[in-house]
Amino acid sequence: MADYRAPLREMNFLLHEVFAADELWARLPGLDGAVDRETADAILEEMAKLAANTLDPINRSGDEEGCQWQDGVVTTPEGFVEAYNTFCEGGWGALVGNPQYGGMGMPKMLGAQMEEMINAANISFALYPVLTAGACLALDAHGSEELKQRYLPKMYEGTWSGAMDLTEPHAGTDLGIIRTKAEPQADGSYKITGNKIFITGGDHDLTENIIHLVLAKLPDAPKGPKGISLFLVPKYLVNEDGSVGERNAVSCGSIEHKMGIKASATCAMNYDGAKGWLVGELNKGLAAMFTMMNYERLGVGIQGLGASERSYQNAVEYARERIQSRSPAGAQQPDKAADPILVHPDVRRMLLTQKALIGGGRALSTYVAQWLDIAKFGAGEGEEKQKADAMVALLTPVAKAFFTDKGLECTVLGQQVFGGHGYIREWGQEQLVRDVRITQIYEGTNGIQALDLIGRKTVANKGAYFNLFADDVQQFIDAQANNGEMAEFIQPLSTELQRLRDVTARVLAAAQEDPNAPGAASVEYLHLFGYVAYAYMWARIAATALPQTGADSFYAGQVKTARFFFARLLPQTRALAESIDAGSATLMDLEAELF
Ligand SMILES: Cc1cc2nc3c(=O)[nH]c(=O)nc-3n(C[C@H](O)[C@H](O)[C@H](O)COP(=O)(O)OP(=O)(O)OC[C@H]3O[C@@H](n4cnc5c(N)ncnc54)[C@H](O)[C@@H]3O)c2cc1C
Repeated sequence: MADYRAPLREMNFLLHEVFAADELWARLPGLDGAVDRETADAILEEMAKLAANTLDPINRSGDEEGCQWQDGVVTTPEGFVEAYNTFCEGGWGALVGNPQYGGMGMPKMLGAQMEEMINAANISFALYPVLTAGACLALDAHGSEELKQRYLPKMYEGTWSGAMDLTEPHAGTDLGIIRTKAEPQADGSYKITGNKIFITGGDHDLTENIIHLVLAKLPDAPKGPKGISLFLVPKYLVNEDGSVGERNAVSCGSIEHKMGIKASATCAMNYDGAKGWLVGELNKGLAAMFTMMNYERLGVGIQGLGASERSYQNAVEYARERIQSRSPAGAQQPDKAADPILVHPDVRRMLLTQKALIGGGRALSTYVAQWLDIAKFGAGEGEEKQKADAMVALLTPVAKAFFTDKGLECTVLGQQVFGGHGYIREWGQEQLVRDVRITQIYEGTNGIQALDLIGRKTVANKGAYFNLFADDVQQFIDAQANNGEMAEFIQPLSTELQRLRDVTARVLAAAQEDPNAPGAASVEYLHLFGYVAYAYMWARIAATALPQTGADSFYAGQVKTARFFFARLLPQTRALAESIDAGSATLMDLEAELF
C-alpha cells in the first residue's frame, strides 16, 4: 500500500486560488483575524504530518484487531490511545471550537480539509474526534452557560469525548417513535431510562469521560418528533470542582461486529435511571440535534472523499508499477516484458473517474464550508447570512449523500485497478471499500438525504433555496461570458443548469398532483444535482487554472481533469433526468405480494 500523502497542493489551490479563502476570512467579523493564509498553511502542513505518521500506520492493524468488549469495558486496538493522545496534545480537537471555552475558533473551510486528511488516513480513528466536535457544536449552540463551562473545555481538550445517542432497536430513521424516557427530578436534572443501539464511540478507553447527547421523551411529551428532548448524560458525573466523580448509570451492553470501521466502537448503550441534564428547550431536541447533524453530515460526506483519495493514491502508484499487456498504441516500454497498466484506456478511465469525482467533491466541500463560515462568522442577520443558512441547508444532504455514493464508486474503482490484488487484504483496497460503505447508511441513509433535499429543502419552500444556488451558478456563468477560452466549460454548464432548473420545476409541479412524486424522484434528483454542482466546481477550477497552464503542470492537470469530467461523467445527467421524468407510476404499480 502506498504511504498516504495529504493532497496539500490541491487543498491550497482550492482554498487560496479558487475560493480566495483568506480574503473571506479577513472580512468576516466573527473570525476576528484568527486566521490568515500563513496560519492556515502551517495548520494543514502539521495535520498532513500527523495523518501520515501517526494515523495511517495504525489503520490496517486497527482493522485487523478491531475493538474489544469485555464485561462492559471497551478497548480500542493497539496504538489508538497513543495516537489519540498525540492528536489531543496538538490541540486538534479544539480547532473549530468556540474560543470562549477553549476552542481555537478556526473556520470550517480549514476544518473540512483537516477532516479529509484524518479520514483518508484512518476513518475509524477520525470518528472519535469528529463526533466529539459535533457534540461540542450542539452543546455550544443550545446548552446552558453552566453546561458549556463545565463540559466544553474538557471536550475541546480531548480529555472527554462526545457521542450522539439517537438510534433505538425499533427506531432508526423514524426518531419520532423513540422510547427512551426522561423523568424530571427535584434538583432540575432528569432520570434517563432506555436502550440505544449503534452508538459510535459510546464507550472506549481513549478518554477519562464520555459525554452522551441523548434523545429522550418526557412521560407527558407530545407524540412523534415534536415530543423529543435532548439531554446531556455523562458516563461519569462531574464534581463541583470539575473533576470526574461517581459512575453514572450508563453502560455499554455490547459492541457490534461489522463489515468495516472495525476500530470504531459501535455500542449498545443502556440507561438505567442515569442522571442527565436538558440541552436547549423541552420538546425541541430534534432541532438542537440537527445543529450537530448538519455538521456531522458534511463530515460524513468528507469521510467518503477521504476514503476515495486514499484509494486513488494507492491505485495510481500501482498502475504506474504493475506491468501487464502492451499499449494498444504499441509498446511504451519495449525494454520490459509488458507496459504499465496506466497505458490502458480502461485503467485511465477508472483513475480519471476517481480523480474527477474527488476533485469536484473536495471543491464542493470547500464551497459548503465557505457558506457554513459565512453563516457562523458573518455580521448581523443580514441578507448574506440568510443566504448562507439557506445554502447550507440545501447543500448539506447533497454533500453527505453524493460524496458517499461516489465514495463507494471511487473505492470500488480503486480496487478494480488492482485486479485480484484489490480483493485480497495485502494492498488495503478492500478495507477502504468496507470502511466507506457505512457512510451511505449512518447520519440518515442516503435515501433519507435525497428526500430531505427534494422535500424539506426544495418542495417545502417552493424552490426558493434552489433558486439561490442556481443564481450563484448563473452569476459565475455571466461573469465568464466574454472569456472565449472558458466557452468549452461555460456552454455545457449553462445547458446543465437549465436542465436542473427544468427538472426542479417539473418535480415541484408533480408534487402538487402526486404524493409519491418527490420520493420517486429523490435519489436520481440528488445525483443530478450533485453532477451539476460538480460541473460548477470544475468550471471554477478551470477558470482559475487555465491562465496558469504554462506556469506549472499542476494547472494543466486540473484543466485536463475538468475536460474529462465534462466529456465523460457529466452526460449522466441526461439519463438521470429521464428517470426522474418517468415519475412514480412504475414504482408504485407492482402490488406488494408480487415483490
Ligand atoms: C456502524 C454504525 C454506526 C452508527 N452510529 C450511530 C451513532 O453514533 N448514533 C446513532 O444514534 N445512530 C448511529 N447509527 C445508526 C444509523 O444512523 C441508522 O442505522 C440509520 O439512521 C438508519 O436507521 P435504521 O438502521 O434503523 O434503518 P431504517 O430506519 O429501518 O431504514 C431501513 C431502510 O428504509 C428506508 N426508509 C426508512 N424510512 C423511509 C422513508 N420515510 N422514506 C424512504 N425510505 C425510508 C431507509 O432509507 C433504509 O434504506 C449507526 C449505525 C451503524 C451501522
